[in-house]
Amino acid sequence: MPPRVYVVDDDQLVTTSLGMALRLETDWEVLSYNDALQALGAMPAALPDVVLSDLKMPGLDGIAFLKRVRSLRPDAVLLLLTGYADKESAIAAINEVGIWQYVEKPWDTSDLIVKVRQGLERRDLVGRLEAQNRELAARLDELEAARARLLASERLAAVGRVMAGLAHEMGNQLGLMGYAQLIIDKSGDDEVKDFAQAILRAQKRLGSMIAEIKDFVRGPDGPGERGALVLEVDDLGAVVDEAVGLVRFDREARERPIDLAARAHPAVRLHRGKIMQAVINLARNAVQASAAGQRVGVEVDVDDGEAVVRVVDRGAGMPPEVLARLGEPFFTTKEGGTGLGLGITRRIVEEHGGTLRIASQPGEGTQVELRLPRADAPGPGQAAG
Ligand code: ADP
Ligand code: MG
Repeated sequence: MPPRVYVVDDDQLVTTSLGMALRLETDWEVLSYNDALQALGAMPAALPDVVLSDLKMPGLDGIAFLKRVRSLRPDAVLLLLTGYADKESAIAAINEVGIWQYVEKPWDTSDLIVKVRQGLERRDLVGRLEAQNRELAARLDELEAARARLLASERLAAVGRVMAGLAHEMGNQLGLMGYAQLIIDKSGDDEVKDFAQAILRAQKRLGSMIAEIKDFVRGPDGPGERGALVLEVDDLGAVVDEAVGLVRFDREARERPIDLAARAHPAVRLHRGKIMQAVINLARNAVQASAAGQRVGVEVDVDDGEAVVRVVDRGAGMPPEVLARLGEPFFTTKEGGTGLGLGITRRIVEEHGGTLRIASQPGEGTQVELRLPRADAPGPGQAAG
């Protein structure tokens, strides 16, 4: 595309002769105006590459005009036509407005054309440099992000190794707390029995925390077992039913009833233990976020080719700053929380080729939707029946 050149001068003789000379000697698209405001009015629809303007014009003078051109089209090549007497103000404008050249009247056409071409070349060069700069800056950002990810995953792996060792040791020692059961059986003292009960409850809590930590460090990001899960076709409704049944034994769940609605029994290729774990994590979070007396809903349904488990509570909900940190391992707002449950759940769901979506409103509650591919639905491209 040839450059579009505006020639603006209140003297019609100038626009006509200059316009003609440029059309004769170049392939440029030349637009001539005798009024600066008219030229400005035409520009939004036909942006200029080059603007040649007279300095002294009635109304809007050349410098004010070019300033407005500059804000409309920052990379336009601007040239100012001046009489010899106005040289000083022309030079000042070069710095003030960023004018490429000033051209003294009477001009030499071929000299003028050379100046315009040089301006266009410089503009292209600057444009290419800017593009390269932007690309370089983007690459730097990418590199920085990759470095941060690497650091985070190294740190996580190191934390994981320490945690795995700790969890193992703690698990061994925790078994000893089981002697509290012997104390309950053998002691005749009710107060001692109560204390021993408390020890047993603590053992159970610590045990499930340790199980969660072990689960986390055993995943694909941590040290330990690797490899894909072995999946078998099973009824998702039944798996969820069993998981909910376990959560109902939680102490908090006694005052926060869980309503299970199995609207469908989709067949899903799954690892029973892992999917139970995922549902337990979600149902537990829902129960823990609810106030006494509030009900929690768990539903199983099908939607297109997917099986859906929805866990809904009318509890505390999450403010944006909590929502933003949900993926982060060890992020918890609970006393005695591990901050691993959701991360483990997400990983399990992803290992099953599914998705996990969380929507939450502070004060209104939380809805978590777990979607898994159905084993009993025809896949895309497959004929039904
Ligand atoms: P933990 O339950 O050990 O804290 P999770 O990974 O399960 O770890 O959850 C992380 C955090 O996400 C919780 O501490 C809580 O702040 C928030 N959260 C998760 N589920 C819900 C929910 N249903 N309602 C409100 N907040 C929730
Ligand atoms: Mg949890």
